[in-house]
Amino acid sequence: MRATSLPISIADLRKTYGNYLALDDVTLDIAAGEFLTLLGPSGSGKTTLLMALAGFVRPETGAVTIGGQNVTRLPPNKRNIGIVFQNYALFPHMSVSRNVEYPLRLRGVPKAQARERAEAALVRVKLSGFGARDIAALSGGQRQRVALARALVFEPRVMLMDEPLSALDKILREHMQFEIRKLHDDLGVTTIYVTHDQREALTMSDRIAVMDAGRIEQIGAPQDIYRRPRNRFVADFMGEANIAPTNNLQGAGAARMPRERLAMIRAEYFELEPAGLEEDRVEVTGCLTSKAFRGENWLLNLETPMGDQFMLSLAANRAAGCSELKIGSKLRAYAEFGHVHLLEGERSS
Ligand code: ADP
Ligand code: MG
Repeated sequence: MRATSLPISIADLRKTYGNYLALDDVTLDIAAGEFLTLLGPSGSGKTTLLMALAGFVRPETGAVTIGGQNVTRLPPNKRNIGIVFQNYALFPHMSVSRNVEYPLRLRGVPKAQARERAEAALVRVKLSGFGARDIAALSGGQRQRVALARALVFEPRVMLMDEPLSALDKILREHMQFEIRKLHDDLGVTTIYVTHDQREALTMSDRIAVMDAGRIEQIGAPQDIYRRPRNRFVADFMGEANIAPTNNLQGAGAARMPRERLAMIRAEYFELEPAGLEEDRVEVTGCLTSKAFRGENWLLNLETPMGDQFMLSLAANRAAGCSELKIGSKLRAYAEFGHVHLLEGERSS
């Protein structure tokens, strides 16, 4: 069971609901076999884009091409796409087997063969032997696996998944992130995955497209997006971003930076001890306004005389001294020049 995967090309897709622009000329190319995640806050257009790919939403302008074929006018059942919906959309009155066989029966596959292929798909998602059970008798995680099996049973060339793990608890969700990624790697199917959880996107994806208000703000590999966000929106959405004018940073490293720009420093790149070359040191000095021990790290908040707020995340194994720090005391924190990222499109004033 290894389908040939197909590339997808999305060009200038626009979709409005009344006066509301849900997709603002979205253009995006996905390579054959790629795992691409659409990441963005609620309402940013992720589901609309996915449903336009699947054929359930009809865009006003633009085109969707799958494997070189323009499918923009094709109905959903002619697109050969497997979909896992947010609420699973399983048939509650049917057994597990009947649910998984369903797409095959729709396509006219004979009963015995459909049963066999459904069983193979259930083995894939580690539910072998569950075929006769009722959907109602399954846990959330098991239902999620049935939905996965149903989406891949007809060997689609493209898989779409809309927040498939959002109903699961944290531990199961993190486990399933690896399972789904492994399934993708085994099958090689081009996959577009939707989530509003940045850590999930970082964990699973070849590339992430960050969406806001119907637009793709930035697209790139997880490390690129995390380290080099293009603007404040992406920086804030991906992890803990400290953003301050370059003019307000101190130290020899800061003196080498352009003035009047906005700099981003991730919380975990700060240290309380100077390290490395002096010329590379960027410093901030402020008052400790709060601190919290979180197991793996300490979180400290500093406020500078200029009014900038900095959050520091210090790995607990290197920050034993944090227990002694007093709220209100003055602290100096250090970051390396190479870890300070200037936000391209943003000026500080
Ligand atoms: P996301 O999946 O990122 O949360 P959606 O694609 O579901 O975002 O929605 C994008 C925007 O379009 C939202 O503001 C939503 O309210 C609106 N929207 C989505 N579907 C409809 C619809 N059928 N009718 C009217 N507005 C809609
Ligand atoms: Mg959605």
